[in-house]
Amino acid sequence: MPARDSVADDLLGQARAAVERGDAVAATDLVARAFAADPSDPHVRDLYVGLHLARAIRLAATAREARRADIARRAIPYDTEFRDSPNVEAAFEEALRAHDDLLGADPGNEKVLVMKAALLFRRDREKGRAEALEILQRIQEVHPENRQVAYAIKKVERPCPRCGDTGFCPYCAGRGTKTFVRVERRCERCHGQGICPVCGIL
Ligand SMILES: [Zn+2]
Ligand SMILES: [Zn+2]
Repeated sequence: MPARDSVADDLLGQARAAVERGDAVAATDLVARAFAADPSDPHVRDLYVGLHLARAIRLAATAREARRADIARRAIPYDTEFRDSPNVEAAFEEALRAHDDLLGADPGNEKVLVMKAALLFRRDREKGRAEALEILQRIQEVHPENRQVAYAIKKVERPCPRCGDTGFCPYCAGRGTKTFVRVERRCERCHGQGICPVCGIL
């Protein structure tokens, strides 16, 4: 048993104190440094994964929201060939990196693997579908009882007829809002998220 790394221990203590006072940004940074100092410490790893999981979820939501805002701003008609603006691409890249960082620390984390599959699929269905399916099927082999994974595979493997497999909400064309009698309102079908209610649950 190697001696506990005192630098990592100290940083872990500081990270926990930051969590206590509700400073998630400082805590995330401190625990990342603790993890760099001693990746083998299970206490450090658990807090690292917990805090970075929250960050990855936030970044995935940010990417989705950046795309919705981009679609609304560009007023893209529903069936037009769609390409993300560079800031949206960058948001998806950052979210993916956050997932890969987590998997670097905890390679078998099922929750993160499912989140990564969903993100790859959401970013670009054409390019991401095969990769997402591969991740999900690998989890299913080990955990055939995981119903969330079975459900996700069903969603990913077949193109969605409801939205023409664009992934965008067909009621608001991905904008998240609808204009009715000149008043702009939140689209209730997608809860303002702009994603297809049938296939976009991932
Ligand atoms: Zn909608
Ligand atoms: Zn759909």
